[in-house]
Amino acid sequence: MSVEEILAKLVSFPVLGGQSNTSIITWIKEYVESFGIPTVLVPHAIEEKASLHCRIGPAVNEGVILSGHTDVVPVAGQDWSTNPWELTDKGDGKLYGRGSCDMKGFIACVLAVLPEMIKADLQRPIYFAFSYDEEIGCLAAPELIEAITDHYDEKPKFAIIGEPSLMQPMIGQKGIVIYETVVNGSAGHSSRIRQEVSAIHESARLILWLESKMNGLVEAGHVDERFTPPHTSIHCGIVQGGIAPNVIADKAVFNWDVRVIPKDIAKNILTDFEQHCRQRENELRAVFPAFKIETREIHPDVPALDTAETDEIVGFVQELGQNPTWSTVSYAAEAGQFAAGGYQAIICGPGSIEQAHRADEFIAKSELERGVKMIRQLVQKLST
Ligand SMILES: [Zn+2]
Repeated sequence: MSVEEILAKLVSFPVLGGQSNTSIITWIKEYVESFGIPTVLVPHAIEEKASLHCRIGPAVNEGVILSGHTDVVPVAGQDWSTNPWELTDKGDGKLYGRGSCDMKGFIACVLAVLPEMIKADLQRPIYFAFSYDEEIGCLAAPELIEAITDHYDEKPKFAIIGEPSLMQPMIGQKGIVIYETVVNGSAGHSSRIRQEVSAIHESARLILWLESKMNGLVEAGHVDERFTPPHTSIHCGIVQGGIAPNVIADKAVFNWDVRVIPKDIAKNILTDFEQHCRQRENELRAVFPAFKIETREIHPDVPALDTAETDEIVGFVQELGQNPTWSTVSYAAEAGQFAAGGYQAIICGPGSIEQAHRADEFIAKSELERGVKMIRQLVQKLST
């Protein structure tokens, strides 16, 4: 099958993050196994979904993992001019469809070169690592990475995460975690604002505390100029609470996210915030004894990627893609998780992140070709 035929097949599976990916992963499994390569599924503990890994080539150290996710983001509410689940060639050099760019394009490149991988005299192996539920928080990668580490006696060295990067090696990625904070105050007539504890007023103070926490980190020199912006961001994007202008709110909820540069740790920011919350509880319980602030994680902590410019994988991938530059991304991806698992990791794949998650998502045919070329280069490099 050609890379375009494979991509059309992959796009036809409308598997969203959070849903069962049995359809697409079964197709990939059967495709790979039709070339005589055994695969291993890493199933979800309860739900009907699985990641897949396999090895092509000898069981020796220093192989290369090619990583991709099989899920995509929803199309609901987006103004598509084509059927998002049917790869469409409009004749403008682009192939349209949900996931064409993020990131079934890369998986298609990898699968299209599989027949050549088998024929080649690989001296070091290539591994496929295809996950699910990436789009809802990189949920499956930790188990998949652990399964790969446990399953193979030999130790792979590099992991290339084929997120759309226009084939530019991306050596850094911010980490992310999302929290929900619930503030329980006391209700009452609005005239009694100094006698009650308004959950809304206290939420406002806490949100500003978070903002000054962010500013304090920047002032203390917590910056990493490789990123845009070059600092950890803390942002509150949802506030809910209250029933009327003249009623003191007894409950308010706000959601906030932390996007960390590699040198900052989201958990430490949470610890400082929790300490501040305990202090506020102590102060305000004098007014309302049941006053309470509770925070929980609603999106797991996805670690940042911090590959050094001098790490071997950087030169390796620069050579593969024939692109001597590097950059960083501000989106979350599985690369930081592979790095945490002990593999030198980098993001490099066809297509532009600008097209991801939008209506009329597309991948340029020229990008698909570059993706295939990179995988072919990899096969060649590992065969000598
Ligand atoms: Zn992606």
